Amino acid sequence: MAETMRAFRMTQWQQPPEIVEIDVPEPGPGELRIKVAGNGLCQSDLHMPEIPSVMEQLMGWQMPFTLGHEVGGWIDRCGPGVEGYEEGQPVALVSTRSCGACLECDAGFDNACEMNQRGRGYGMNGGIADFVLIESTRPIIPLGRLDPKLAGPLTDAGTTSYHGVRRVMSKLGEGRSALVIGAGGLGGFAIQYIKILTKARLIVADIAPDKLRRAKDMGADEVLDSGMDDLAGEVMKLTEGRGCDAVLDFVGNDATIATSIGVLAKLATYAVIGAANGKLDMPLMGAIAGRNATIISFIGGTDADTRAAIDLGDQGLLRNDVEFFDLADAQKAFDRLAAGKMVGRGIIVP
Ligand SMILES: [Zn+2]
Ligand SMILES: [Zn+2]
Repeated sequence: MAETMRAFRMTQWQQPPEIVEIDVPEPGPGELRIKVAGNGLCQSDLHMPEIPSVMEQLMGWQMPFTLGHEVGGWIDRCGPGVEGYEEGQPVALVSTRSCGACLECDAGFDNACEMNQRGRGYGMNGGIADFVLIESTRPIIPLGRLDPKLAGPLTDAGTTSYHGVRRVMSKLGEGRSALVIGAGGLGGFAIQYIKILTKARLIVADIAPDKLRRAKDMGADEVLDSGMDDLAGEVMKLTEGRGCDAVLDFVGNDATIATSIGVLAKLATYAVIGAANGKLDMPLMGAIAGRNATIISFIGGTDADTRAAIDLGDQGLLRNDVEFFDLADAQKAFDRLAAGKMVGRGIIVP
């Protein structure tokens, strides 16, 4: 009889996930089995029970599947033909699934690869389980001093925010200003990347006083309550009327979009990253073209972004606030995240 393991999975479309006992997967040719140390929770996981069965035809998702796309762990077993890895080696897994050969991958934008329509934790078996199978060595990042239990959030929250910072970095030389709106999980990493990688002055806005305190601890030069009457006006004052050379908006609602557009310096880049689905209701020729500004948007980050984020984590340079939950309490962790009560990133530990 095969050994069994626990997995927190979607078993039917539009039903809540549940913990089930399933066979431990055996790695086939070219595959590897990873023993999970920790799997980070993401807002997107909360939406899985709402997803319609049409994803099967649209994206090739297969039910049932185990949740979890932010995995850190140890190599457990290599399938036939896999060489160069040893059992017990600590690793993180790139969350973005990509082929490495299409036009998008070739351009370095593997987060836009067709293969990423389904991946670990979204349509395929993910990491909220004792073990997870990976189809090739492509996603593996060997870890140095970083605890694999803590690596998960860097493969997603830490990766998407790295992608954002990397895309605006050329605008952030000495004497320039950056604005980060939303200092939660992703924004917290962005604040740190900007301080580590650029010389720009950093302004951070959020509605939560505790997040602003944390932002200040992480090196923000100025913090502003985004609930204030004229946030854009205050940012303009702080930049002596010049505005910000880069704005990273981790909220993306009508109000933050309006504020962001209102504070763009000449030649600035505005990255809309938050998924609040706000509207851009501005005369383009005035605010955008008039300042020769650029607007960018994207989903997730690339393989290279994850490797860069893990590298900074491995050097001990990143603060990564987490809350641990036992696998048996996965549903409790989801409920806490849904209620907005999670202080750091939630990590499910098998
Ligand atoms: Zn995610
Ligand atoms: Zn590709």
